[in-house]
Amino acid sequence: MVRVGWRASFKWVAFAACMALMAPLRAQQVPVIEKTLPNGMRLLMVERHDEPTVSGAWVAHVGSSNERPGLTGIAHLFEHMMFKGTPTIGTKDYSKDLEIIAAQERVREEMRREEAKLRAAYRRGDVDDLQKIENRSERLKELDKEFQELIEQQRQILVKNEFDRVYTTAGASGMNAFTSEDMTAYFITVPANKLELWMWMESERLWRPVFREFYAERDVVYEERRLRTESTPLGKFQESFMAMFWDASTYNWPVIGWPADLPTISKAQADEFYGTYYAPQNITLILVGDFKATDAEPLALRYFGRIPRGAREAPDVVTWEPPQPAEKRMLAEAETNPQVDILWHTVPFGHKDSYALDVLARILSTRTGRLYKGLVLGSQVATEVYAQQDARKWAGLFNAGGEAKEGHTPEEVEQAIYAEIEKLKEAEVPDQELQKVKNNFAASEYRKLTSNLPILFQLIVADGLGNWREINEAAPKYQAVTAADVKRVARVYFTRENRAVAIYVRKPGTGGEDPDLAELNADQKKAAQAMVGRIRSETDAKKLRENLDRVEAQLAQLSAEVKPLLDFLKKKMQERLTQIETK
Ligand SMILES: [Zn+2]
Repeated sequence: MVRVGWRASFKWVAFAACMALMAPLRAQQVPVIEKTLPNGMRLLMVERHDEPTVSGAWVAHVGSSNERPGLTGIAHLFEHMMFKGTPTIGTKDYSKDLEIIAAQERVREEMRREEAKLRAAYRRGDVDDLQKIENRSERLKELDKEFQELIEQQRQILVKNEFDRVYTTAGASGMNAFTSEDMTAYFITVPANKLELWMWMESERLWRPVFREFYAERDVVYEERRLRTESTPLGKFQESFMAMFWDASTYNWPVIGWPADLPTISKAQADEFYGTYYAPQNITLILVGDFKATDAEPLALRYFGRIPRGAREAPDVVTWEPPQPAEKRMLAEAETNPQVDILWHTVPFGHKDSYALDVLARILSTRTGRLYKGLVLGSQVATEVYAQQDARKWAGLFNAGGEAKEGHTPEEVEQAIYAEIEKLKEAEVPDQELQKVKNNFAASEYRKLTSNLPILFQLIVADGLGNWREINEAAPKYQAVTAADVKRVARVYFTRENRAVAIYVRKPGTGGEDPDLAELNADQKKAAQAMVGRIRSETDAKKLRENLDRVEAQLAQLSAEVKPLLDFLKKKMQERLTQIETK
């Protein structure tokens, strides 16, 4: 499922591959030092002295679930805006820059009034499409021209990608960010002797960001939506399926935002959003690597301590999902192999039942799990199967599904999945099987604690979901799950009225699946399909080549598990490059 908003560059490829490897569990204790600055900002530090680098991140406790109708997509838009620089980074002339930004706002204000008139005309049926240029009023066209001229003026004094360049020059690598339903995180790895530079750079952009090129970047995000959601085989369907699944919850809309909302977000709304959600008391700094906490804390105080505490607290999300009264079903014709995707409402992060649900997911999933054995090897109704518990901050869901083998229907796969779940409701899982799953947890936990970045990401995610301590405290809770617990949660959550089902059949006249995908597992396939549309629409050969280099560098470093995904992406990038270059 596509659920994370990435920056427009290709940098997310490697990170996505890395995330695909991470199961949500850990065993060893990570020695975290926690401090709170006087302005309410929290600081988590893990000293690890095996290589001379520091991986640093900060998490803003805001994602799409904190948005409201009409303003969807703003959390992810912020992820883009935070790379635009500060008064000293990103411009040759800050006072001129400010003048242009103010002038742009004046033009935009009038454009908004014209756009409101256009929407009214659309509601009356006088125009057929809000996006079409020819439907715009003469005044709106004039204003747009005026606005483009201001953008041109701003470009004259802009220093593009300066934020990135300062870091790269200092030997830093892997700068990126992501937005999910529950958090927005920014991260990078710097040489150990550049920790103070990190403190300065990150505190500057957090303290006095300049939202220059705001509307141009909004358009970039709109384009990102088009590429990632609208041009992928399942993008729009998955978005619609999620919106169908959640009635009241703010998980109802996609991280990327609804197409109608994105083009209406104003800079004033962004400023207000920043004041609420990017205040120090809503932020956690995380450092993992070669530094001394006794040095880092005073540095954090010196740099981040400059930022005054925010005037208001970020509001809690108060809407909880009412119990679903009836099964929901969606039937889709798509350019995809026949498959079924099933969602059940479960529990949020840290809920006492979440551990048993995670264990249940493990019993069903993986190559040695019951779904694979039963549906792929056994009855052979499916070629791919998956199951996972997705515990978010405010609510949770369980997702299972699979792709039908030729000659079988998605409905047969669906029924076969239910049959496996019924077995879990009726009989307790044998001790040996349960123990095997727990051992797998412990083994994958160990693997994830051998380098800085995976530790950093675990801290980002756990803190973003509400409690970083889970990275140490969850392991014994998993080990304590009993066969009776698994049976109980199977009975409580896996009921007919608690689920939503999407059946996908191949749209008549569309071809079969890309044979290159055959080597990938279900998760990787989803990731690959989400990325391939983007690769195919890339027109900049230089960018492609840079990303190809990045994937090749990753291939050398990452484990065998992700290799097929990276090989696939490499091949698709090479194909696209050849296409561009032979044009
Ligand atoms: Zn993005």
